[in-house]
Amino acid sequence: QEDVFKKIVSHCKEYGYVFPSSDIYDGLGAVYDYGQMGVELKNNIKKYWWDSMVLLHENIVGIDSAIFMHPTIWKASGHVDAFNDPLIDNKDSKKRYRADVLIEDQLAKYDEKINKEVEKARKKFGESFDEAQYRSTNPRVLGHQEKRDALHTRFAKALNDNNLDELRQIIVDEEIVCPISGTKNWTEVRQFNLMFSTEMGSTSDGAMKVYLRPETAQGIFVNYLNVQKTGRMKIPFGIAQIGKAFRNEIVARQFIFRMREFEQMEMQFFVRPGEELNWFKLWKEQRLKWHKGLGFGDAKYRFHDHDKLAHYANAATDIEFEMPFGFKEVEGIHSRTNFDLSQHEKYSGKNIKYFDPELNESYTPYVIETSIGVDRMFLSVMCASYCEETLEGGETRVVLKLPAALAPIKLAVMPLVKKDGLPEKAREIINDLKFHFNCQYDEKDSIGKRYRRQDAIGTPYCVTVDHQTLEDNCVTIRHRDTMAQERVAISELNNIIADKVSI
Ligand code: ATP
Repeated sequence: QEDVFKKIVSHCKEYGYVFPSSDIYDGLGAVYDYGQMGVELKNNIKKYWWDSMVLLHENIVGIDSAIFMHPTIWKASGHVDAFNDPLIDNKDSKKRYRADVLIEDQLAKYDEKINKEVEKARKKFGESFDEAQYRSTNPRVLGHQEKRDALHTRFAKALNDNNLDELRQIIVDEEIVCPISGTKNWTEVRQFNLMFSTEMGSTSDGAMKVYLRPETAQGIFVNYLNVQKTGRMKIPFGIAQIGKAFRNEIVARQFIFRMREFEQMEMQFFVRPGEELNWFKLWKEQRLKWHKGLGFGDAKYRFHDHDKLAHYANAATDIEFEMPFGFKEVEGIHSRTNFDLSQHEKYSGKNIKYFDPELNESYTPYVIETSIGVDRMFLSVMCASYCEETLEGGETRVVLKLPAALAPIKLAVMPLVKKDGLPEKAREIINDLKFHFNCQYDEKDSIGKRYRRQDAIGTPYCVTVDHQTLEDNCVTIRHRDTMAQERVAISELNNIIADKVSI
């Protein structure tokens, strides 16, 4: 699985999906650029989200707020005081780690030990193996499980109490070693704020410290009344936004899974107080449906309900996707209560209550938030689509089985040879279709090689123009996944492809 992930990462670079940022300067940690294919896939993901939110819901509208915001916003939201990660350094390697991640890795090690025991027993007992029975009676499994449960309880309490000394003590007691130096020589644990800051205005005026937003949500909260009034919105209603967010992540690993500059697609849904948990349930289901709609298979998704809630939430869940490195959060759905709006009311001194004409009263709305990372979604799409196939005759092909609606290029048009008017005919087809979808012209190398290239970037359709085409205005269309080929009239192409590339 690790190997597959490595292959996906290099595939992303080789085919113009994702490049390390500042590549010729050897990259910049946890920052990435999207290439000529990547930008198209990213835009298609954003469109799939935006359309499902803003186009399909009468009561959801979009905004695009600035990355810079008044610094008091981050005080009010709690980010200045509480948007921290607990850090610990190993004194020998001088490497810095997130204390909570070290402990999570330790929990995973217990799981691994348990799974190894189970797999060993399964091999030994074969058909008659009763896994549940074995897990609940085998002394070795029970021993690991007991240690794991004790660690989990202690860890959850330390996080809940924000007890940094206890986090360090857990690391010491569990004898966790630094993966680099192999030693247990740890510093104290300290809080590290994840927000990037910079200065606005010239220093002679007295520059103001401002932050790069760590989430897009606050831009929606501070505008909610502007939108409600000018858009004559009635509760319940939602505001959607897609935009960059910045976090100074300490543990930057797994490629574009955890970045320091990334993009979020967030929607805040404003509801009557007391109705929030019903809406929370509804949005949970809606969002899962959206993911499943891409057709990667329902087994790839699961909810992870939170036991430990952020300071602003009264319910929270993640939608997790099965990446090659395990089930991981792609989207968070949070019932954020009226925390943010009341805080902004308090800090700004402005009345931002909503007047409900049906109830004839004013109140601070409650908020359900759906928050998904574009880049994590991109990674999940890549991982689910990447496929190596052995063909008849032993040849292999790498194919990105992207949903047609998300594929960067929908159609490649290829003249069989570079002469006899075939290139001109191919260009004619592209000129007709390019207003409807992204087409690519390709005349270099053998047809077989050209097909492989299009498979590798995930193009769902290739059309070949041959000598016969000049006579009958028909072409051969090849389907990426089945590699089936059929002869169709050029005039039919638009319908055939349009039908498949819309969701
Ligand atoms: P994690 O626990 O993985 O750090 P989070 O719970 O802090 O994530 P949220 O604050 O809920 O994440 O942000 C909502 C979404 O934004 C996440 O589900 C994820 O898709 C995306 N996201 C958050 N941090 C990053 C990051 N550093 N890089 C890429 N995407 C991110």
